[in-house]
Amino acid sequence: MVRVRFAPSPTGFLHIGGSRTALFNWLYARAKGGKFILRIEDTDVKRSRPEYLEEILDSLSWMGFDWDEIYYQSKRFDIYREIAERLLQEGKAYRASPSGTDAEGEEDGTEIEKKQDAIIFKVAQQKVVFNDLIHGEISFDTGVIKDQVLIKSDGTPTYNFACVVDDAAMNINHVIRGDDHISNTPKQILLYQALNFSVPEYAHLPLILGSDGGRLSKRTGATAISDYRRMGYLAEALVNYLLLLGWSPGGNQEIIGIRDAIKKFDIKNANKTAATFDMDKLNWINSQYIKIADTLDLSAALEPFLKEQGLDVSKFSKDYLLSVVKLFQGRLGTLKDFPAWADFFFKDDFVVDPQAKEKYLTRDFSREFKLFVDRLQALEPFDIVTIEQCFRGLLVELGLQSRELIHPVRVALTGKTIGPGLFEVIYYLGKERVGRRLTAWVKQ
Ligand code: GLU
Repeated sequence: MVRVRFAPSPTGFLHIGGSRTALFNWLYARAKGGKFILRIEDTDVKRSRPEYLEEILDSLSWMGFDWDEIYYQSKRFDIYREIAERLLQEGKAYRASPSGTDAEGEEDGTEIEKKQDAIIFKVAQQKVVFNDLIHGEISFDTGVIKDQVLIKSDGTPTYNFACVVDDAAMNINHVIRGDDHISNTPKQILLYQALNFSVPEYAHLPLILGSDGGRLSKRTGATAISDYRRMGYLAEALVNYLLLLGWSPGGNQEIIGIRDAIKKFDIKNANKTAATFDMDKLNWINSQYIKIADTLDLSAALEPFLKEQGLDVSKFSKDYLLSVVKLFQGRLGTLKDFPAWADFFFKDDFVVDPQAKEKYLTRDFSREFKLFVDRLQALEPFDIVTIEQCFRGLLVELGLQSRELIHPVRVALTGKTIGPGLFEVIYYLGKERVGRRLTAWVKQ
């Protein structure tokens, strides 16, 4: 049975790179009917923080990556110590003050409380070869690898050591992680061999570059997953996007639901070359998911965004909210767009865009607005078709082109120059609000 793990360190928030690693592990487990294990690598007690852990767990759950088992390395220090002792007894490791050797593994730069000697693994000269499921054969000459610290002088295990002990103890048979760990793999394989553990299969996912071709930075997409959520991305859309950052369902297909992906995915088909983070593509995928979302679900997802902008929708009926959402659904890029674009449907004191006002409402429309309001009040039945007929009839009588009146009316009713069709806006605002808003521009 396939057993894979995602092993985040709670020393920072979950980002695009980490969540793609989580996705590929989770997807592989689900595609193969295996198990997805979450291992929290919180051995660095000083840098690990509960708020990071919480964000990582929340973000994984939000994206739907449910785990079958969870472990915390901070609760397993006895196990690492025991295994290190075993290597000492077998003569494969030795104790030394880290300052007295040039072994690798004590963190540089961080203040380590040196209470005891470190336990250091002897690295023998040999060639390590492994077959990466994505990159093919990779070989390293261990002549360049120094002796490795297993247990640091502060008593905590190093990453490479804890990782091997746990991958073996947790029966992990496929290690899927970022390319940045390729240089750790030979060090880990030497430990497996020394411990007589069977070496797992490895798949190293190519780097994700920022849109500028460099490392992912805050500016080029290295944003916490919880921030994407707050910015109004749908989990399904983000997951779809992460999927494309390293795999393709074939053809030119870009929208692929997770159920379908589970059927088609194989780690062997992951891309071999670096992916580039592309915000425009993420936005496009998000808009596609919003477009096809069930309007009821979408309305529920939008409510916190409305509330955040101080828009109280509780005084409106559910049907009204649904109708308004439908008007915008086809054009939203993110959920956050909705309160910004649809505010005038939920409050009267919306801001009128000063440029729009300057452009369309400097001339006096008192006569036109008054006539239109009077006719709308008397209009029966009041629906989108009759509203349009009424408006067009008025244009003919006044000898105006439709754009000469459409824009001023729209700006007066919505504060904006763009939005859904004007007659739909008038219909959903209703006679009373339309009357009030247009009359406010009539000079007495
Ligand atoms: N805690 C390590 C990291 O976050 C895990 C690496 C691995 O998957 O082995 O990079």
